Amino acid sequence: MNHTEVVVIGGGQAGLAVGYHLRRLGLDFVILDAQPTPGGAWQHTWDSLHLFSPAAHSSLPGRLMPPQPGETYPEAAHVVTYLTDYEQRYELPVVRPVHVEAVHRDGEFLRVETDSGTWQVGAVVSATGTWSRPFIPAVPGRTEFKGTQLHTVEYRSPTDFTGRRVIVVGGGNSGAQIAADLAYDTDLTWVTLREPRYLPDDIDGRALFDHATARRRALDEGRTDTGGVASLGDIVAVPPVRAARDAGLLKAQPMFARLTAAGVEWSDGMTAEADAIVWCTGFRPALSHLAPLGLRGPRGHIPTTGTQALGEPRLHLLGYGDWTGPASATLIGVGRPAREAARALADFLNRPR
Ligand code: FAD
Repeated sequence: MNHTEVVVIGGGQAGLAVGYHLRRLGLDFVILDAQPTPGGAWQHTWDSLHLFSPAAHSSLPGRLMPPQPGETYPEAAHVVTYLTDYEQRYELPVVRPVHVEAVHRDGEFLRVETDSGTWQVGAVVSATGTWSRPFIPAVPGRTEFKGTQLHTVEYRSPTDFTGRRVIVVGGGNSGAQIAADLAYDTDLTWVTLREPRYLPDDIDGRALFDHATARRRALDEGRTDTGGVASLGDIVAVPPVRAARDAGLLKAQPMFARLTAAGVEWSDGMTAEADAIVWCTGFRPALSHLAPLGLRGPRGHIPTTGTQALGEPRLHLLGYGDWTGPASATLIGVGRPAREAARALADFLNRPR
């Protein structure tokens, strides 16, 4: 049995950001990460993915992300390099690959069971992200389709689909970016639940973060809700999306009613044949390791106040989405809730700050 004050589950950006603050506060902790190498989900994105904010606006606490030469909006590989450097620079105690299987209550402690041993700890920060839980909606006929079906997490490059008939499903950033990626070399059909809503071209991730922060402040001060970032639109018009849209290559079709053996069929009887369907339909939080604590609330989330689980004060949740802090599932947004979580843990464990 291993012992430490805090176990952080997940060594992506959220786990590293809270590690930075736990280190500053002098707590004993370890970060357990299931990946064999640093970088969290950024290691697994498609080849052409670029951030929707410049480097300086995609930074974790303590260290600015350096710009990527020749790119205003850095590539995913640049983020992996930054996160690798970050954990080395701050000597964060990441142990990998370690997969956490379950967290149990154990008297005054929590017991963290993994595929490489057990930890008995005073508190846990869960920062496992969403990438390992891709979501595909239950559309009729999904098993009838004879072509290839894949989710965002499996998509890599348009060269895998050159000359083929591809249907991309999803009107968010992943759907728009992957549709733009495929628009030139494939016979593309882009399907969205509602008409695509682009943010104004001059708005990128910086403005989204400012909006989320202003909303948090308004709510904290009891003022009128300014609306989530979704009130601005769904799609950041990053340069490749803008180029494909302006070339008339991103005409969206409404959602189809069912899949058939050869493709898809709309409710009015119209059909489209396809070789492949790419489901860009989102993710769910990866929380199965917390199931023994019995904390699951509506929509698959665990109810929290700030980052602290309402039903278990020794558990904090970080990243995932706005429900654990405004923009906490982004590089720049996770710093503040990470700091608050670390401070709350120091208080909880009676550590002087
Ligand atoms: P992850 O990066 O997923 O890290 C979680 C880590 O926990 C992983 O290493 C995982 O293996 C590990 N793990 C999971 N379960 C366990 C377990 N049971 N035991 C041990 N380890 C476990 N954000 C921006 O700021 N700018 C952008 O431009 C941007 N673009 C995005 C584009 C796409 C397509 C997507 C999907 C997201 C984008 N984001 C962007 C959002 C966000 O920054 C990422 O989703 C980010 O990876 C979330 O970080 P995380 O640390 O919470 O989770």
